[in-house]
Amino acid sequence: MTDRDSGIGRPGKHVVLVGLGNIGSPLVGLLARSAWVGRLTLIDGDSYEEANVRGQAIAAGDVGKPKVSVQAARVRRIAPGMGLEAIAALAENVPMGRLRGDLIVAAVDSKAARQGINQIAWRLGIPWVDAGVAAEGLLARTRAFVPASDGPCLECGWDQRDYDTLTVNRSCAGRAGEPGGTRAPAYLGSLAASMQAHLCQQLLTEGSPAELGTREWMMDLTSHQLHETAYRRNPRCRFDHRTWQVRTLSWGPAGVSVAEAFGRLGRLMGAGEGLTLHLAGRPLVKRLRCACGAQKTVLGAKGRLGIRVGRCPRCRGTMEPGGFDLIPELESEWLSARERRRTLASVGFQPGDVVVVRQGADEGYFQLGKD
Ligand SMILES: [Zn+2]
Ligand SMILES: [Zn+2]
Repeated sequence: MTDRDSGIGRPGKHVVLVGLGNIGSPLVGLLARSAWVGRLTLIDGDSYEEANVRGQAIAAGDVGKPKVSVQAARVRRIAPGMGLEAIAALAENVPMGRLRGDLIVAAVDSKAARQGINQIAWRLGIPWVDAGVAAEGLLARTRAFVPASDGPCLECGWDQRDYDTLTVNRSCAGRAGEPGGTRAPAYLGSLAASMQAHLCQQLLTEGSPAELGTREWMMDLTSHQLHETAYRRNPRCRFDHRTWQVRTLSWGPAGVSVAEAFGRLGRLMGAGEGLTLHLAGRPLVKRLRCACGAQKTVLGAKGRLGIRVGRCPRCRGTMEPGGFDLIPELESEWLSARERRRTLASVGFQPGDVVVVRQGADEGYFQLGKD
């Protein structure tokens, strides 16, 4: 994960842009040129490929470079005063607190990625703007979501088929040549980006009115028509729509042991006993297994154990947790003395992560600070 932070930046709103492909790459230029944007966070885990040159806002010399580096350099050329952070990672691997700007704008190409951003935006209570293109049919669409009490979320419009294809999408997410993305002409992505930039401006300069979150606009270039679709909150939506009151901590995960974290968070919750804590959306791993039969006891957040920990000591193969090797949350009583002395960082907690603390029916949400 690369990370460049050039400070708070010029006056204006903090926009978090996820995805720097067919729509996201032209959007970077539009946002950098917008006076209402003071700070940009760019998130994408990929590098540009040869096939991207025709459809995206890059140059031939950018092939092979990380997308965030290319676009961060562009922002610096267009708007040297812009506050800028570039994160080379999949959004689902980025600590939630680092997406906590004034607005999230998503230019992603899988249903699973959209679902993840929808849930993060609701938890953090910030609006987000989606967009998509379909190369066949020359369609460009955009839609805003406002986490208001009766506002529809992405999943409000989903039926069983959407959930069924979610897993199909996930298995090929991150591959080049996804539908719409790489094959779409540059002007289609630019059109979606322009529609999206306008919605961002409306949301940010008009105080995110809830009615902006009830419409989708789609341009059909083949028939030269604009279609508007209305959405309503679905009372049977599978997502709970809850927004969390996230408190920011002054301390980070590197200097605090697991035992100290239980003590400090317990005091903040006004409770001492029976506390559990976990990372939002990320279970903990307690055991790893290898195809050769070897097993290893570990403790760490899923996906953050590191390559060395995941290597089999017997055959050097890759070890994975099985279904029974994951635990949803840490319980103080369950941990060994040695585990309680480990730092939160060594267990995979990162600055910006949101820690969910639970005691009985009470839940508290705390964003870890910088170390
Ligand atoms: Zn919903
Ligand atoms: Zn092995």
